[in-house]
Amino acid sequence: MATKNILIVPGDGIGQEVTTVGKKVLDAIAKKFNHEFIYDEALIGHVAIEATGNPLPDESLAKMKKSDAVLFGAVGHPKYDNDPSAKVRPEQGLLKMRKELGLYANIRPIKLFDELLSASSIKPEILKGADILFFRELTGDIYFGEKGRKNNGDTAFDVAEYSRYEVERIARKAFDAARTRRKKLCSVDKANVLETSRLWREVIQKIALEYPDVEIEHQFVDATAMLLIKDPRRFDVVVTANLFGDILTDEASQIAGSMGMLASASIGDGTGVYEPIHGSAHDITGKGVANPLASILSAALLLDISFGLKEESEAIINAVDAVLKQGFRTRDIADANTPTEKILGTNAMGEEVLKLL
Ligand code: NAD
Repeated sequence: MATKNILIVPGDGIGQEVTTVGKKVLDAIAKKFNHEFIYDEALIGHVAIEATGNPLPDESLAKMKKSDAVLFGAVGHPKYDNDPSAKVRPEQGLLKMRKELGLYANIRPIKLFDELLSASSIKPEILKGADILFFRELTGDIYFGEKGRKNNGDTAFDVAEYSRYEVERIARKAFDAARTRRKKLCSVDKANVLETSRLWREVIQKIALEYPDVEIEHQFVDATAMLLIKDPRRFDVVVTANLFGDILTDEASQIAGSMGMLASASIGDGTGVYEPIHGSAHDITGKGVANPLASILSAALLLDISFGLKEESEAIINAVDAVLKQGFRTRDIADANTPTEKILGTNAMGEEVLKLL
């Protein structure tokens, strides 16, 4: 029996709707496997700005640091998307959380449930069997370097920076993971033009010497973008920098059929944060149609990575698989052959998963 403190941080938009379902699934696991999960909740993003003026209030950050793991939803609001000049913004809360918790590795398993082969925009024969584990560096690169304007505001700049240490620690995580899988690691960079990428490649080549059992290849990011669609099965573990990872993992989400299916883990040396890869999706907020499976699968990742509860994690993944096999779909993963009575809303989809647990 494990006793753990889990902080629920739903954030904005559909983050609220899907995280409620993710928490219910954690509850069901606690009952089934006789664990004690103690929950608390904290604000982030637009809802935190409305309540306190701060996208990540100190109280939320303190709760995060104290908890054993965080189940996170999403942040974002159309008000800010349409106002690039807003000084206080929901995503500042997200970036600060990553920085303060030292979450330097974002891990995204990209695996298609067989039942969803036809829901992807890629041909089933190219997709079947694809199973990729992405490691995206999360605290360096162009997002965190110096940024500003010059020439009376007519020229803008964002500086990309990486230190040897930052590359080394994510490289080790990725090599370790490759060892537990098919022992192939693809490092993605743009070393033909970027100095940060040349350092990246140099460090990866050095760490590779410590892992002679792992086959390493280096790909340029533009080629990787093409290969992911052309031949996704060629990849096992992929490691890349923050900006390239941001773009490539959204592209790879199409391999899994929908953004609503993909979970991610952000880890460092302390509390880990588990979240769907999708955003707050204001186009569907409040309609009860958001797919909760990414949040449910985030709960599965949380149990596996932060608590080492592998059997519990697999129980969730198997329940999701079984629900899909029964033909249930949310709108985003339904296709022309899905009967309307099998198309469920957020809560009803959650209930089907809970029934199987
Ligand atoms: P998004 O992921 O919110 O939505 C993209 C599209 O996918 C939308 O059409 C949406 O309806 C659909 N979608 C996403 N999740 C779904 C789900 N669970 N079920 C069904 N359909 C789903 O991305 P966006 O529209 O570019 O951004 C919306 C807001 O979210 C913005 O404010 C953005 O800044 C923010 N955002 C936050 C995060 C985060 O918190 N990690 C990530 C991406 C975007």
